Amino acid sequence: MSLEIWARTSGPIDTQRLAAAVADLLENGDLLVLAGDLGAGKTCFTQGIGQALGIDQRITSPTFTLANHYQGRLELNHLDVYRIEQLSDSLDLDLPELLETGVTVIEWGEQLTPELPSSHLNVKLLLDGPTDDHRRLSFSSDGVAWAGRWDALAAALEEWAEQ
Ligand code: ADP
Ligand code: MG
Repeated sequence: MSLEIWARTSGPIDTQRLAAAVADLLENGDLLVLAGDLGAGKTCFTQGIGQALGIDQRITSPTFTLANHYQGRLELNHLDVYRIEQLSDSLDLDLPELLETGVTVIEWGEQLTPELPSSHLNVKLLLDGPTDDHRRLSFSSDGVAWAGRWDALAAALEEWAEQ
């Protein structure tokens, strides 16, 4: 089953509010794969997730560290795999173990798809709209993990949903 929802935001704070609405549905073991060009808002989205999980620390881009870990209502593993040149590098991240603890968000994660569990949530951010501060976001999933929560996700995103 393939599911998709489209949404629009009008600025960084709006994207963080939307991400916080998504975070309320997150469960231990969830994986979010974030796609979108540099500056699309992947880190901004993750900051909104972190705020909603009650993480006080400032969430910054893990471009050079590959992975940052935060403790909130759930643990948050924040990865940015932009610099991974070979798929084998990703083995160093020990994804299977990460995915067992908390919520994992991977920026540029679509390149790892062959190694990821199929039941993740894809979030794609696009620069699109009347100003530089507008974004379009696509939420999609093929796996069972989100099928049971899809109506709840659609309801949570209603304020931003594309007509
Ligand atoms: P990425 O992680 O995708 O490279 P960042 O989240 O680091 O992108 O940066 C996004 C930049 O775009 C930030 O400077 C942010 O303030 C700006 N921005 C403007 N409008 C939006 C929006 N609607 N959503 C997210 N970020 C936005
Ligand atoms: Mg980023």
